[in-house]
Amino acid sequence: MTTTPPAFPASAREWLAHLVAFDTTSRNSNLALVESVETWLDALGVRSTRVPAAGGGKANLLFSIGPEVPGGVVLSGHTDVVPVDGQTWRSDPWTLTERDGRLHGRGAADMKGFLATGLSRVPAMLAAGLKRPVHFALSYDEEVGLLGAPALIEALMASVPRPALVVVGEPTGMRVVDRHKGIMGLRTTVLGHEAHSSQTHLGASANMAAARLMARIVEIADRLAAAPAAVPGFEPPHATVTIGLVEGGTAPNILARRCAFVWDIRSGSPAEARAVFDEVDALARQLEADMRARFDDCGIQTEVLSDVPPLTGALDAPALALVSRLAGSAEREAASYVAEAGLFERAGLPTVICGPGWIAQAHQPDESIEIGQLAAGEAFVDRLIEALCE
Ligand SMILES: [Zn+2]
Repeated sequence: MTTTPPAFPASAREWLAHLVAFDTTSRNSNLALVESVETWLDALGVRSTRVPAAGGGKANLLFSIGPEVPGGVVLSGHTDVVPVDGQTWRSDPWTLTERDGRLHGRGAADMKGFLATGLSRVPAMLAAGLKRPVHFALSYDEEVGLLGAPALIEALMASVPRPALVVVGEPTGMRVVDRHKGIMGLRTTVLGHEAHSSQTHLGASANMAAARLMARIVEIADRLAAAPAAVPGFEPPHATVTIGLVEGGTAPNILARRCAFVWDIRSGSPAEARAVFDEVDALARQLEADMRARFDDCGIQTEVLSDVPPLTGALDAPALALVSRLAGSAEREAASYVAEAGLFERAGLPTVICGPGWIAQAHQPDESIEIGQLAAGEAFVDRLIEALCE
């Protein structure tokens, strides 16, 4: 009996069709996609490492092409996509479909297009005799809070000699983005002491204390909006702080026992975000002490719901030179969205975002990538191979 080897995609376009066919909406497992890439790598003789999620239903994938030496380049992308629920598509979102010079499918731009350009060039990388390595870092659950990347980055740092550059392939139209804001998502919960609302001296309203904290947040938001930008290039140019959800009290005539509000700080500078947090927290500590002096069941607590550091454009000279060469331009831009790039930078790696397609296409019905963008992505990887062969 003979076994036919599985047919694997070859071109970037074939790879894109292959990747799009896996419904890797973040709520689903991405293991079928991961396994398919692993099987292909096995056939090429490339060793890969899964970095599994705690529950086991998902995994990051890490593999390297070339020698085990420092100075390599990381190509990083997320394997998950956003849902198509409630969207009207002209063609099946999971079947790559060409119309008007564009390839349509969920993830075509964000960001299976980038993965496709990189994977399609793996055989070329193997054949090229790289003097410095290319590391592939594929994550899960980026779209639902960048959940996979921290363990992926930890495994990368532990297993490969220090890379010179990380390219996160979010769709930028192949322009180089070297700054994005960070986001700190927070939930502050105030516990007061209930009493009849006519008897304010017998209780402590959680709502009233929360209102003082929220008033301080509003003050800070106004101050940030009036201040010069700490990091240039963002829209809006300043850091922002907003309150997204408020929930407090049980009846009009009861001093509220509990009030919770969810707020977020978005800044291009980690120090600035920290200063905003510290200022609000200092007031919380003071209010808590005042309330506790009267009732010991009172308290104020702030949980960190998410903490994604900004990408600050902190590139050293070799990284800068390499990026300019790969992109064919020294221009660099700022992005308003949050990405995994800030996490790589926090780990100490010079990082940029650069990938085919446009963010405006991402998350939309009929998501697509121009065929020309895919070609531009391939050219970028070809220049990378050339640079790493020197
Ligand atoms: Zn993305």
